[in-house]
Amino acid sequence: MEKANVVIIGSGPAGYTAAIYAARANLELVLYEGFHSGPAGGQLMITTHVENYPGFPDGILGPDLMDTFKKQAERFGTRILTDDVNEVDFSQRPYKVIGNKHQHVADSVIIATGASANRLYIPGTRDGEFWQRGVTACAVCDGAMPIFRNKDLYVIGGGDSVCEEATFLTKFGSHVYIVHRRDELRASKIMQQRAMNHPKITILWDTVLTTVEGDEVVKSVTLKNVKTGEETKHEAGGVFFAIGHTPNTAFLKSQIDLHETGYIKVTQGSCRTSKELVYACGDAQDHVYRQAITAAGTGCMAAMEAERDLSAKGLID
Ligand code: NAP
Repeated sequence: MEKANVVIIGSGPAGYTAAIYAARANLELVLYEGFHSGPAGGQLMITTHVENYPGFPDGILGPDLMDTFKKQAERFGTRILTDDVNEVDFSQRPYKVIGNKHQHVADSVIIATGASANRLYIPGTRDGEFWQRGVTACAVCDGAMPIFRNKDLYVIGGGDSVCEEATFLTKFGSHVYIVHRRDELRASKIMQQRAMNHPKITILWDTVLTTVEGDEVVKSVTLKNVKTGEETKHEAGGVFFAIGHTPNTAFLKSQIDLHETGYIKVTQGSCRTSKELVYACGDAQDHVYRQAITAAGTGCMAAMEAERDLSAKGLID
């Protein structure tokens, strides 16, 4: 097994930023960018225009932004492995990180595996159908695209995200429909009120999406009332899933403390986890902000904390 001061698992904004900071601090480091587990570069690889990342006044495509992150990490000597980590052993130090093709023993580990937005796989929403052609799982990322302007938009879900995203989408759509499978929202009262009182939002209760159709882009949705069984077809310009995220933490099993929802527990205001010298950054530990810029910020924190802790333990000069 090869040895490293720091192994970074994950290659989104959090992982690459951790790599830039760790490499510039002269730590011996390796980054597992993933392979089968999802696109290297994380969720931004499946987005189009990113307009809210500071430093790019004209916006930048998600994949191009991640390319710049990766190049910057490599420029300072990060060794990037195209491999998935399936298993870690944090029972004793140095820790073991086990990938499909590579294995490492590491003085410290930074987990930056992100989260995946949940999707519905129904006719019309799958890859190669209208996914990313009017069907998306991120209103904040995609809502301002021209295809959604002055169209009826449908947002699926019943939590805080659906309320927040529907409210956001009122800036662009002619009307926004929240499609919820039950007769009450689970969102906080204040978020519910904001959505319910908005003149451009209508909530369709006890309703599920069954089909999305269109030509080049989405043109209609079919909805089913789960109480009456009635199906109706409606003109639509876009469908947004807001049915939660799943953090990519299954491989951590019982190695560190996780919240019930699978997000990694960190000490408030830091990236330290329940295991010393193991850090978590980005969406794998953040169910609230979930932005590229916040992921990058916590990536920086994780690397700085790793450097300080390794130094305090005499594991680096
Ligand atoms: P969430 O609270 O887990 O809600 C997901 C919603 O999607 C639920 O209403 C659920 O319906 C519905 N859903 C799940 N699977 C579905 C399926 N297969 N078909 C149809 N509907 C489905 O997720 P979230 O809204 O993303 O919120 C996640 C966390 O982030 C929460 O803690 C939330 O408070 C927080 N958050 C906070 C803010 C804020 O404060 N500004 C904004 C966004 C998120 P059921 O209700 O029937 O289960």
